[in-house]
Amino acid sequence: MKYNIPRGTFDILPEDSYKWQFLQDSFRKFAICFGYQEITTPIFEVSELFERSSGESSDVVQKEMYRFCDKKGREFALRPEGTAPVVRSYVENNLDKLSKRSKLFYLGPMFRYDRPQAGRYRQFYQYGIEFIGSNNPYYDAEVIAISMLWLNSLGLNKLRLEINSVGCPDCAVLYDKALQEYYRPFLGKLCPDCQNRFNTNPRRLLDCKVPSCIELRDDAPSQLNYLDEPCEKHFEAVCNYLQAMKIKYIINPRIVRGLDYYTNTAFEIVYEGLGAQNSLAGGGRYNGLIEQIGGKSVPAIGFAGGFERLLIALEEEKINYAEKPKPDAYLVCLGENVRLEVLTYLNDLRIKGLIVDYDPDKNSMKAQFKAADASGAKYAIIIGEDELANKTINLKNLQTGEQIRVAMNAEDTKQRIRAKI
Ligand SMILES: [Zn+2]
Ligand SMILES: [Zn+2]
Repeated sequence: MKYNIPRGTFDILPEDSYKWQFLQDSFRKFAICFGYQEITTPIFEVSELFERSSGESSDVVQKEMYRFCDKKGREFALRPEGTAPVVRSYVENNLDKLSKRSKLFYLGPMFRYDRPQAGRYRQFYQYGIEFIGSNNPYYDAEVIAISMLWLNSLGLNKLRLEINSVGCPDCAVLYDKALQEYYRPFLGKLCPDCQNRFNTNPRRLLDCKVPSCIELRDDAPSQLNYLDEPCEKHFEAVCNYLQAMKIKYIINPRIVRGLDYYTNTAFEIVYEGLGAQNSLAGGGRYNGLIEQIGGKSVPAIGFAGGFERLLIALEEEKINYAEKPKPDAYLVCLGENVRLEVLTYLNDLRIKGLIVDYDPDKNSMKAQFKAADASGAKYAIIIGEDELANKTINLKNLQTGEQIRVAMNAEDTKQRIRAKI
């Protein structure tokens, strides 16, 4: 019997894992510098959480959610996105009591039953930010800045920031009417999904991926012409903050986020090198969500990005963003007795944080040096009977060939290797 990985998923193999570790650590550090703290929620939640937050009519809920029942018949779903779980936790744990502002970030896998293609998987890894507690447009710009500046810091510069405002529920009523008026004559030409959306959620029509629907979209009225005064002012202020931060953007009135809870600012970061799946990150304000799932009315904004497409973009640009870790040293031992006696020293080196390779199956000096070279180790630590008797080691720089005899002391060895002696 041979088993295969489920379609639309992937293994992160050992030779690639350092890249993932680097990107995760890098995002973590970046978010912390902006004052954000990590929050980790379970990978499954009650299905209703996503039905309430994303909206019953959304593709996510209708088609893409992995649902299951536990043994007591309770309905759960693997999380298709990160915002609703974070907000559930915010409400459940009364995080608003700790501070008026909650600055949160998360990392982890999400799940959607979707057609797999380049850069799109059924289990995918996201990084995200959620800022909860203020409607100040400064925070819209801060959240956008984190996503843009982090991607920039990795060396990506063919990025395009697109922003829009989807207004508040008041604006949406006006806009939905305008859209229905525009689409009504074409109702017969719309795909079956869009015919449903026409009544339930006309803004979703703009998001459809069916070619004939995309064509009709070009002349549809723009969201930005249907903003009320507070929403227009908010959007202007966000633009001003971005200009003050010297973050370039273009206004794209076609950005409608795929989920129901977005209000006001919506944005997307597009990498110009990728094909159809070119969105690296996206997000927006969701002032209505917290109340929608049982909390108080608290304004919030966030974004999420996927690691898979980011990795493709970094590879495509040939950016050397992370270095594969190599051993600091390879331990070469000669003699049975030595092999036993060096073990506490070997463990001490590793406890002190040195990466030390050692292979007890290799016996001859020649075989061990060959293995040391193959491992890419910078140093060889050579110990025979004579060195053991004198409590010394030979430390050999494998690049220069230089070799010195020093005390068998893990701290001393570490200092010398770190100082590149
Ligand atoms: Zn409004
Ligand atoms: Zn359609």
